[in-house]
Formats: sequence, C-alpha cells, structure tokens
Amino acid sequence: AFDRRPLIAGNWKMNLDHMQGITFLQKLAWTLDDAGHDFSRVEVSVFPPFTDLRGVQTLVKGDTLDVVYGGQDLSPEDSGAYTGDISGQFLQKLDCTYVLVGHSERRTIHAESDELLNRKVHAAYRHGLVPVLCVGEGLEVRQAGTHVEHTLEQLRRGVADLSAEQVSSLVVAYEPVWAIGTGEVAGPEDAQEMCAAIRSELETLSGAEAAARTRLLYGGSVKAANAASILRERDVDGVLVGGASLDVAEFASIVRFEQ
Ligand code: PEP
Repeated sequence: AFDRRPLIAGNWKMNLDHMQGITFLQKLAWTLDDAGHDFSRVEVSVFPPFTDLRGVQTLVKGDTLDVVYGGQDLSPEDSGAYTGDISGQFLQKLDCTYVLVGHSERRTIHAESDELLNRKVHAAYRHGLVPVLCVGEGLEVRQAGTHVEHTLEQLRRGVADLSAEQVSSLVVAYEPVWAIGTGEVAGPEDAQEMCAAIRSELETLSGAEAAARTRLLYGGSVKAANAASILRERDVDGVLVGGASLDVAEFASIVRFEQ
C-alpha cells in the first residue's frame, strides 16, 4: 500500500481578515512548534480568503513555516474580462499549493455545475495547483439512500479527462452537505463507506496505481473530539475542517490526532 500522508485542511471560508489571518497563522505555527509537530508525517494546509493570501505568503516564506495554503476557489479561465474572478495563475504566483474546487457553498450559493467544476479542476492543474475537489450529497439524497451513486456521479463529472498522473496527485473531499456546519457528523463508517466507493471509482477510471495515491478527505463538523476516529478509517486520508479550523487550540489538536 502507498503511504498517503494525512492532510489536515482548514477552510476559513469568509472569516479572518488579512490582519487576523496573520495573527491566527502565527499562533497556529507556534502551537504546533511547541507540540513538536512533525509536518513530514501530517501535512497542514489552510484556505484563507483571497485577500489574506499575500500576507500568508509573506509570513510562511519569511518565517519558513511548514504550513501550506491554498485558495478557496479559482476561475476556469486564465485571464480576461471576468470581473471578480481569480485566476489559478495568480494563486500560483502566491505560492499556493492547493485550491478548493466545488465546495458545497459554491455549488449551492453560486450554482456551480459539475461541468464548470471540471473546467476549474483542469485550470488548477494548468497552473501547478493541486485541486481539492469537494463532493457529497444533501439530506434528501441521504434519506433516499442514493448518496453513493449521487456522489460518484459528481466525482466522475468533476474528474473527466484527467490523466492518471493528475488523479494520483488529486485530493477529493467527501463532504455530506447535511453535516457541514450543522454539528451532525457522519460516522467513521459512513466516511469510510464513501471514501472506499470513491477510491474504487477512481480505480475504474484511472487505474489502481493512481487511485491508491489519491488522498481522500472527510469534511463535516469535524472537531478534536471526533477527528481521530474518522482518520483511523482505512480510506480516509485527512479531514477538511470548517468551523473548528478557526480555533487555534482546537485545530492544532485535530492536526495532532495521532497523539
Ligand atoms: C466545510 O465547510 O468544509 C466544513 C466541513 O465545515 P464544518 O467543519 O464547519 O462543518
């Protein structure tokens, strides 16, 4: 089996302005440093608002922090008359490692379709960014029992026309919409069920070798108290954390789930 380095990712959403973001990240880095966190074992990424990224870059490079970071979205286009949009090129220039694609809040509030998200995934790779493609079902789909098929359909459309090499570096986040920001957590076995289904679908699409390398995250009301049990599951390679990523101590203990 491949050694998939766990990824603990914090999605700040529209929280922490550029000053607060810097203070937060400094405190997080100190806390993890004090705890002797080994970043080569567990990777840590934050996803600040766009306006924070330049400051985050300066801090991370200046203080040589091991935390990496990414954008919360990107345009499918590279440049041009797209008012309000942000190009993957710009994120690359700010040394972003990752970019979220298709977070459920983008899918619902901004009506982003799977076809658009597939173009964003390709745009991310064009600019040397690793997309974190978010998929997952709403409550009605879960209650109807068709959540696996629903999520795999989002996956297939999202990863269309990717090479096996691209799939091997891809990150997919399974985030059941009913568990985001609600305090409802899918059980570890639910997270495992879906992540196993996603990996097996990727195997069919891109081959066993690529699928064995793809990192699969769970997201939805993850906190320090439930992170370890979710991360113990075989096909779960990390977590995407919203609310609890805004509290330094809480997020740091999620990062330190092995302790
Ligand atoms: C998210 O928005 O990606 C998320 C998982 O949020 P929360 O942890 O607050 O449920």
